[in-house]
Amino acid sequence: MPSQIELLVQLQQVDQTLRAKTQAVESGQGRVADLDESYRAKAAATDQARTAALALGTRQRDLEGRLASAEERMKDRRMRITRIRNDKELGLAKREVDLLKEEIVGLETELQQVYEQNEAATGGLAALEGELKALAQAREAEAVALKDTIARLGAAIERDRARRAGLIETVDAELRRRYEMILSRRGGLAVVQVRDGTCQGCRMRVPPQLFNQIQRNEQVILCPSCQRMLHWQPAQDEASE
Ligand SMILES: [Zn+2]
Repeated sequence: MPSQIELLVQLQQVDQTLRAKTQAVESGQGRVADLDESYRAKAAATDQARTAALALGTRQRDLEGRLASAEERMKDRRMRITRIRNDKELGLAKREVDLLKEEIVGLETELQQVYEQNEAATGGLAALEGELKALAQAREAEAVALKDTIARLGAAIERDRARRAGLIETVDAELRRRYEMILSRRGGLAVVQVRDGTCQGCRMRVPPQLFNQIQRNEQVILCPSCQRMLHWQPAQDEASE
């Protein structure tokens, strides 16, 4: 019949392996969630870039249309000028041609800018689409790995839980409460060994009288310094010497 402290040692072993397995599952879930979030943000940025590129494309076509029309009018005015015999009319027509020239230069300048902007926007969009695709693939790979982890650990976690439920029944209720409390306060380590008269939780020396009590293994003794439950394993102490 194992003593209470021995049962607590077993309980802690189960808790530790259970926690490691649960953390493996949780960290996988965390990575998938992170990649989900990155994907959503990247998809939104890609949509935005696509809208901007489309707007630039529309603007480019509009400017090209206006430029073609201005050039058409220019051709028409120049042809007309050759037929004008009246000085006043000729002056007006030349003025019109000058204005059209200005308009054409302005449109060409603007169009050149839009071409450059469009090229940059299209390149940016392609890069974003590439990144989006890479994120989708990374997320997919992580999801597959997570599924694998869950499949691998799921049954083991169930077994650990069943073992824990069985063990906890054998531990005194007050000790169980105390164990849970120390476990949460002391970073998942409630039961520690005393080796060479030293608490392995906080490395402080255990007073000799207390050490004698611990070796008797009759009751659960707390470390005076870190308040963890102290455990002594004779076999291991002998083996290590
Ligand atoms: Zn201690």
